[in-house]
Amino acid sequence: MDFGLTEDQSILRDSVRRMMDRHATPEYIRRLDREQVYPYDLYAEWIAMGLFKLPFPEEYGGLGGSPIDMVIVAEELAAKSFDFFSTYGAGVFCGLNIVRKGTQEQKQFWLTRLLSGEIRMSISMSEPDAGSDVAALRTSAVKDGAAWVINGQKVWATGAGARDNVINLYVRTDPTAHHRAGLSLVLVPNDLPGITLRKLDMLGRRCVGTYEIFFDNVRVPEANVVGGVNNGWDCVLTGLQIERITAAAGYCGGARAVYDLALQYAKDRKQFGRPIGTNQTIAHMLADMQTDIEIGRTMIWRAAWALAKSDPDALRLITMAKLFMSEAYVKAASTGMQIFGGAGYNMEFDMQRHFRDSRSSTIAAGSSQMQRNLLAGLMGLKVR
Ligand SMILES: Cc1cc2nc3c(=O)[nH]c(=O)nc-3n(C[C@H](O)[C@H](O)[C@H](O)COP(=O)(O)OP(=O)(O)OC[C@H]3O[C@@H](n4cnc5c(N)ncnc54)[C@H](O)[C@@H]3O)c2cc1C
Repeated sequence: MDFGLTEDQSILRDSVRRMMDRHATPEYIRRLDREQVYPYDLYAEWIAMGLFKLPFPEEYGGLGGSPIDMVIVAEELAAKSFDFFSTYGAGVFCGLNIVRKGTQEQKQFWLTRLLSGEIRMSISMSEPDAGSDVAALRTSAVKDGAAWVINGQKVWATGAGARDNVINLYVRTDPTAHHRAGLSLVLVPNDLPGITLRKLDMLGRRCVGTYEIFFDNVRVPEANVVGGVNNGWDCVLTGLQIERITAAAGYCGGARAVYDLALQYAKDRKQFGRPIGTNQTIAHMLADMQTDIEIGRTMIWRAAWALAKSDPDALRLITMAKLFMSEAYVKAASTGMQIFGGAGYNMEFDMQRHFRDSRSSTIAAGSSQMQRNLLAGLMGLKVR
């Protein structure tokens, strides 16, 4: 057994950390959050650094990285802002779906553009009546000659309105098929006629933007369907594991940032003539926070390792890591607010952003309840 990073992984972590320290300064992150501005310049730095190439096979211009490399990067990006990870992650998950399910032509066309920064990608599954029960989605695509004509509505779409974004849209292509059958994945540039995007006013993760999208007779070439018509559910399933384990690593990065802020504050802030961190109650809060981060990171690395090895137990390990770390990030941010006292409640300090951003972690990418349902199912329990 070896719990250490390899030399290459240490170099990867350190170089991503240095790049993020240089470009994602506290002032930069505060401005993006306050003004709700997409991190275009930071994204360009990732492209320049080759970060998007990391998990893709070499034959498509990638670097052939593993899920372990991905969780290392996810933690570093999210240690600045979870929103940065979600921007990066969405593009990577969508691209990997094309690697797994796309035709040779689709791989050449879309991956070249994604890895060069010419386009971005976002995921749109959720609808007003299809959340945890995502297979209930109703947005439809009907064949008309050599095109699909899309009608319907999506919601909670992270980054969908960004410049040059291609929405990875899940649609119903066979309305007669049962539930999970009859779905397809189609690539839809967000500037096509008939698309209306509305930026939603969310509690947190305000820089990348969360959107509602309306499709009114949007025409897309038939070549934009990935994985074959009516095979959309297969695309959802195969992408789920890397999405959830990297999201968990993102929550770990967020919790680490909270811990760093809270520890520094506990050392600096003096009341009754001594640092508040010398009170045992405050010190124990920080000890618990650090313990949760270590537990979570160990679970994440083990699950990522299992995924890299195609271990059949990977799904169970990933689900537990996502469940644990999402709840640990929420708990850490809430504790961080308590340690900061009144300053935690003030928009000029960064703790409130973590409090707001963390709150989505037990909801998005499958809620905590759905993770527990999945684990119960793996135990052979049929929960309703
Ligand atoms: C910040 C943010 C970003 C997002 N980004 C995207 C994105 O980019 N693309 C996208 O497609 N979606 C995105 N989502 C949507 C996200 O995937 C959904 O919010 C999530 O799947 C839950 O669906 P819902 O909000 O409709 O809640 P619901 O499914 O209505 O759930 C409401 C509550 O009921 C519980 N519940 C529901 N069913 C069960 C059950 N069977 N057993 C026990 N409890 C249950 C849930 O756990 C939850 O607590 C995003 C959400 C957020 C908050």
